[in-house]
Amino acid sequence: MTKLAVSIMVYSLEQALAAAALAAERGADLVEFRIDQVAGDTALLNGLVEDSALPCIITCRPVWEGGLYEGDEKSRVAVLSGVQSGAQEPAYLDIELAAYQRSVDLRAKADQLVDHPGQVRATTTGLILSSHDFDSRPADLYQRIESMAAAPACRVMKIVWEARSLRDNLEAFEIIASRHKPTIALCMGQWGLPSRVLAKKFGALLTFAAIDPGGATAPGQPTIQELKHLYRWDAIGQQTRVFGVIGYPVGHSMSPAIHNAGFDELGYDGVYLPMPVAPGYEPFQATVGAWLDMAALDFTGASVTIPHKENLLRFVKEQGGQVEALAQEIGAANTLTKQDDGTLYASNTDYAAALDAVCDGMGVGRDDLKGQRVAVLGAGGAARAVVAGFAHCGATVVVYNRTFEKAQALAERFNGKTGKVVAAPLEKLCDSCCQVYINCTPIGMHPDVDATPVPENMGVERSNGWGPGTVVFDTIYNPVQTRLLREAREAGCVTIGGVEMFVRQAAMQFKLWTGQDAPVDTFRRVVLERLAGEGPGV
Ligand code: NAP
Repeated sequence: MTKLAVSIMVYSLEQALAAAALAAERGADLVEFRIDQVAGDTALLNGLVEDSALPCIITCRPVWEGGLYEGDEKSRVAVLSGVQSGAQEPAYLDIELAAYQRSVDLRAKADQLVDHPGQVRATTTGLILSSHDFDSRPADLYQRIESMAAAPACRVMKIVWEARSLRDNLEAFEIIASRHKPTIALCMGQWGLPSRVLAKKFGALLTFAAIDPGGATAPGQPTIQELKHLYRWDAIGQQTRVFGVIGYPVGHSMSPAIHNAGFDELGYDGVYLPMPVAPGYEPFQATVGAWLDMAALDFTGASVTIPHKENLLRFVKEQGGQVEALAQEIGAANTLTKQDDGTLYASNTDYAAALDAVCDGMGVGRDDLKGQRVAVLGAGGAARAVVAGFAHCGATVVVYNRTFEKAQALAERFNGKTGKVVAAPLEKLCDSCCQVYINCTPIGMHPDVDATPVPENMGVERSNGWGPGTVVFDTIYNPVQTRLLREAREAGCVTIGGVEMFVRQAAMQFKLWTGQDAPVDTFRRVVLERLAGEGPGV
């Protein structure tokens, strides 16, 4: 079973033991004591090993491998001499592969201390040979692994490098799965999270996590709390299906929190990760293609957001997959599903979520939208999905936009297909009366919360604005209550917030991937908690 390890930089015995106790309390299985700065203090070292709340790895990492130990190899041999002078032995001793190969004395000392086929002493300590590259994937990656595999005293191979894209994680999984020996293969940085979370799916010896948000000992390391409560560490197994949100950036996406909470609630064997993919079709095609190609990864679906919604359509078409008709018309998709027969399906749950949010708010069905006059503010990506959806249901849609030409282009694209779509400049919003107003601009979004996309006189004359019975839907979800919604409610309108659209588009994705109805109330609760700054990993 893959262990959850916490790396602790040791400054004093008390500090390190307290950190180990806290790691144990939070659910870690193992600690690594980094003795870089206290090397040579044998009494402290013995105290660490004897009194640690968890089994431990002892590491004295030199500066040249990203550590803080400044001594030479000769003095490191002396440091290592203290490792087994106490009453207890550490579970592991970590030595860099490069030092082990280069220094005869260090190699001889390490071999003397650890358990291996040629060992005559009774010892249980295992040797971890490690390699770290803080820049990128080392060119001689497989050579390094072969050297570790070939060293008889090496019990565990540890290879860590800075990922340059999500594809690096796949190589880490392959290294673990090849199982020469128990292995730790991790990618650092913003692209490396999958290697840390899915280490368990592929049967790595361990993954590292931090006790607190500021306590990471390597770039991109999650906290124990995030691993356990956000990324479902305890539930991950070999068969776990992998999902994610593809976009750039995706660091602040709420989607991992809601989908993972949904998997938890339904006991579904899945995990959902942020998947940053650099802008452009090539990175999208290369990354998503490689993730889908690795059968053992069980990559089953993804939410796709800016800037890749158009790329998803193109990719699925090129792969011979199926594209939802309205997603094709909109020219953007937000959901990738790998179906049971292995074929791909691209669909758009944004327009359907907007339709359902409004219909539920009005207490009507989609058919009842026929002939309704709907004002859409904005002519960007969200507006395109909303206009397509309402026009598809036979509504008459008026697109109001700051850049009138864009409103015109959007109207022309959808006019006459099922409903009527016309364009108007944003300043003309009060000139005619609509039953539904939908804000698809970012005006009023955090932090610009005092802004509103409608003019001051919006509710003054009912014939030319809103009033009791009018429906006002703001697609913005942060803040939950925008100024637009507040003023509309004061004017007696029915108001619907962007959280409803967000929750519904996610629920539809969940259903596509799992075949089960999403726990919508849980989704809503998690979104509201996140927006209030609560919940795991915020
Ligand atoms: P987008 O493609 O960048 O389009 C933004 C639109 O807003 C453009 O038409 C733009 O007008 C207009 N606009 C921007 N700033 C403006 C300003 N200061 N004054 C007047 N018009 C302005 O963005 P998008 O992807 O459509 O997203 C728009 C909003 O939808 C987001 O802010 C987000 O809150 C919301 N959204 C919500 C959900 C959900 O699930 N609830 C999903 C998607 C989007 P020009 O054409 O003149 O530039």
